[in-house]
Amino acid sequence: MDAYTEGIVLRQTKTLNGRRMITLFSKEFGKLGAGTNLAGRGRDKSSLALRPFTYGSYGLRKSRGAWHMNGAEALRGFYRIAEEPEKFANCSYALEFTEKLLPEESPAPALFDLALEYFEMMEARRKKFDTLTAAFLFKAIHLWGAAPELGKCVRCGKEPRGGVRFGVRDGGLVCDDCRETENIPDADKDRLLYPLDFGILNVMRYLPGRPLKSFERLALDEPVLRALKRILREHAAWHLGVGGLKSEEFFNGGLTISRKELHGDGHGNHS
Ligand SMILES: [Zn+2]
Repeated sequence: MDAYTEGIVLRQTKTLNGRRMITLFSKEFGKLGAGTNLAGRGRDKSSLALRPFTYGSYGLRKSRGAWHMNGAEALRGFYRIAEEPEKFANCSYALEFTEKLLPEESPAPALFDLALEYFEMMEARRKKFDTLTAAFLFKAIHLWGAAPELGKCVRCGKEPRGGVRFGVRDGGLVCDDCRETENIPDADKDRLLYPLDFGILNVMRYLPGRPLKSFERLALDEPVLRALKRILREHAAWHLGVGGLKSEEFFNGGLTISRKELHGDGHGNHS
């Protein structure tokens, strides 16, 4: 079978005899690994098309159950992603997250479009990279049917009136009444409960329904972002098995840089 498909390169690894294995998020077939003899180095067209992050058009053949890539042309290289360490860290995390989320050979066109839009916006973005990454993660979690419950308490079903926590294992809000009845020392730690203020809760309710485009100019406050990143990371690890990513540390490390940026951009409120 011969096919052409659009795709985003997730990974490139060397195999025997100068061959390479390309892990591709193809629009048509989902995630797949394809062996190729195309040159992965140098400056020719196909080598550019085999680099991670590249969005391109790929010629594939499947024989005896294995994919082979016999053609590759880059449509967009997203080279500017690598220009800044923090931007690169964010994109690496999003790429690895996507790779881990996707099952083998199961088409996911909505996630494909979301990822492509994310990289396009990221390439043009000049700061607050992790706001966009948080929005991307949240939307991906929604697309995967693992949206957290943010309207009512997951334990008693009531709309919380007092304090509220986010229960990672519970998959949503846990009201203070329910939390207190447990009466277990260290219950928060054991059950992965995180306090939520209304700022964070409002952001969490706002994020998933909006198109990614609406985040073009949005920059979340640092404490909100920090809490949100941790919740999303642990929620995805617990409910989708997407955890322990190699790029996780870099993604978190990005916080220091953005904080500096926050205080250095000249329009703070400290008058
Ligand atoms: Zn409750």
